[in-house]
Amino acid sequence: MRPFVFLDRDGTLVRDSGYPHRREDYSLLPGVLEGLQLLAKAGYALALATNQSGIGRGLFQAADLQRFQDLLLTDLTAAGIELAATLVCPHEPAAGCACRKPAPGLLLRARDEFGADLAASWMIGDRAHDVLAARRAGCRGAVRVGVGAPAPARGDPFALEAPDLPAAARLLLGYGAP
Ligand SMILES: [Mg+2]
Ligand SMILES: [Zn+2]
Repeated sequence: MRPFVFLDRDGTLVRDSGYPHRREDYSLLPGVLEGLQLLAKAGYALALATNQSGIGRGLFQAADLQRFQDLLLTDLTAAGIELAATLVCPHEPAAGCACRKPAPGLLLRARDEFGADLAASWMIGDRAHDVLAARRAGCRGAVRVGVGAPAPARGDPFALEAPDLPAAARLLLGYGAP
């Protein structure tokens, strides 16, 4: 068992243009590589945890998702960053699956299949449903990005906000070692 940082994808690692899946949609957000390097260096395993309902809605195919993922993985690998797991919910909301955030299913899978110590793990995402999934999975806390200035590293660990991923990384590292 090891501590993870779960990473939402759209709006957190890459620009959220609305169901990004084409090559031309791909745009890594500023500072993401530096932020992920900080987390990995501190001893966290990194995992993607992403809702991709565009598949369930028929907007794009699993092969499009894979091609988009390959663009991201190429950038991460070039920066020496490894993903311990890629967790994807492809279902549309009406499917009522157990994995679409805010359900905790993706994180429970990380525990069962990849040895995530959820009580020691964090979530970074840009939506309330990311934070709620982490809370329901029994994580240590969550940082919402794309909002506000960095909140102080105290108080409710599920109420943390940061402007972007590198700020979120520094904020959660302020809570101490994994
Ligand atoms: Mg998002
Ligand atoms: Zn699902």
